[in-house]
Amino acid sequence: MATRIVVLGGGFGGMYAARALRRQFGRKAEIEVINGQNYFVFQPLLPEVAGGSIMPAHAVSPLRFILGGIFVRKAVVDSVDFDRKVVTVFQGIQRRPTEIAYDHLVIALGQGTDFSRMPGLEEHALKMKTLEDARRLRGHVIEQLEHAQVTQLPDTKRGALTFTVVGGGFSGVETVGEMKEMIDRSLRFYPKIDPSEVRVQLIEFAPRILGEMPKELADYAVGHLERHGIDIKLGTGVKSATHRQLVTTTGEVIDTRTIVATIGNAPLPVVQRMGLPLDKGRIPVDRMLRVPGVEGVWALGDCALIPLKEGASERADFAPPTAQFAVREAKRVAQNIAATVKGRAPKPFAYASRGALASLGAKRGVANVFGRNITGFPAWFIWRSYYLALLPGIGTRIRVMINWSLDMLGARSLVQLKFYGKPPLRYVYYRAGDRIYNAGDRSDGFYTVITGAVEMERPDPESAPESGAMTTRIIGPGGHFGERLILGATRRRTTVRAKEDCKVLVMNREEFMMLAEGFSAFRDYFQPYMEERGVALPGGDEKDGR
Ligand SMILES: Cc1cc2nc3c(=O)[nH]c(=O)nc-3n(C[C@H](O)[C@H](O)[C@H](O)COP(=O)(O)OP(=O)(O)OC[C@H]3O[C@@H](n4cnc5c(N)ncnc54)[C@H](O)[C@@H]3O)c2cc1C
Repeated sequence: MATRIVVLGGGFGGMYAARALRRQFGRKAEIEVINGQNYFVFQPLLPEVAGGSIMPAHAVSPLRFILGGIFVRKAVVDSVDFDRKVVTVFQGIQRRPTEIAYDHLVIALGQGTDFSRMPGLEEHALKMKTLEDARRLRGHVIEQLEHAQVTQLPDTKRGALTFTVVGGGFSGVETVGEMKEMIDRSLRFYPKIDPSEVRVQLIEFAPRILGEMPKELADYAVGHLERHGIDIKLGTGVKSATHRQLVTTTGEVIDTRTIVATIGNAPLPVVQRMGLPLDKGRIPVDRMLRVPGVEGVWALGDCALIPLKEGASERADFAPPTAQFAVREAKRVAQNIAATVKGRAPKPFAYASRGALASLGAKRGVANVFGRNITGFPAWFIWRSYYLALLPGIGTRIRVMINWSLDMLGARSLVQLKFYGKPPLRYVYYRAGDRIYNAGDRSDGFYTVITGAVEMERPDPESAPESGAMTTRIIGPGGHFGERLILGATRRRTTVRAKEDCKVLVMNREEFMMLAEGFSAFRDYFQPYMEERGVALPGGDEKDGR
């Protein structure tokens, strides 16, 4: 029977591993790639998507086109049973659990993020990992410009026009450069925004940015970004974040409605569920890319911790999480699986970086190629040429080239095809003293306190209204407020502030009413409150009739 090789993940590691396996085995093995989307994402181009210099569809390639002869399964990997050599996925519209058997398993699922050590960042930061993240960021930046153009409130305008990127690695630097370029090139369409009102900043905890590059290039990058009006704060981390502010570890409070976090790499939940021991948040493999102790299992790419020499212990002794390495690891894993199947000894992974490239926006870049440092326009040109050549599929390359050429000629599109509103159910983080809502504000949701405490202030029901006497109530974890919206109230009667730093769960009115209608325990809980006010919740009749 043909050997069955299942590759988890269709990114740089998985996609190139599958291609290399096909070359190694021809038709003699069944190769299957399982990926959450039916496309491959060229992550180095995501900042360009966010900055609007290329269309989202051009940073991706359909896996079915680029993986001819390989079975592609669009499904979500849930778990792996290493004893039975079976992967369980959820697939199809019904998300049915399906088991897939393997002889060899290649894990190339990439990494996720974890912001849990920085309160509020998970709730309020935008990410830069997926195509959707890049689209969302572009839409969000345009939304801030639209808002700043019309608002009458100076504080709101200042927050809307302050853009903060956290993390001075490749993705943070490229994102901040592209974002600034898009804003600069759009401002002439927003006459109410003076360029001096725009503040773009990059925050990095380390004493320098682009830690993987020679210092000379990082210094050039800082100089270029600062000349283009980007503030760079080194030695500065994030303490906490809300939807209006970012507090740094240096104690600065920045009013900003845009926080892009490119930090906090962490193992994906699916990788954690596998039960493999993790080191530095990644799956440790041996130099042959085998996962020790589990037969027929290999790992590569960002999710794997790959030693580059025996006795590796320092950070530099391990393969960095880059596309450049993932592509080389993919070739090695395919050769090693082929060797193993043929009864030969696999070989250790060995690769020395050929260099590093970063685009800084405004047609400038930095490059270290074969040990030579290049800056400015030539580096930017090398960056673009290199990634153009790497893009899978001639069609995608042509489309990206056309996009880039058009981008040089005119303004960037400001069309917001999709507006990413607030999700109907969301966590919001507030700092002590923050206003949650004021009496008179529009009723927008129902709130439950998860951690911390809030203080509600309302007219004292015992006193005459004209006396202006107020009462206050402290609401802690498990408590809730804002229920009046069930009554159809469109304006708030109370003022609520965060008494302590707190996390609350907010549910929009529509969802609240749906729950009240469909979930009897939920409805019963609120029924006394409603009866007190002479109002029946939807669905109450059915309940009475039971
Ligand atoms: C914004 C940005 C810019 C970058 N720029 C550069 C650069 O200039 N140069 C460079 O060398 N590197 C760069 N990188 C890093 C590079 O993209 C990664 O190192 C590379 O993508 C790692 O490949 P991978 O296969 O391990 O993971 P990925 O490419 O992330 O692929 C993982 C795949 O697994 C899929 N997946 C995850 N979980 C599941 C699941 N449960 N079920 C099904 N599928 C799942 C994902 O959808 C994805 O398709 C950049 C990264 C980012 C985010």
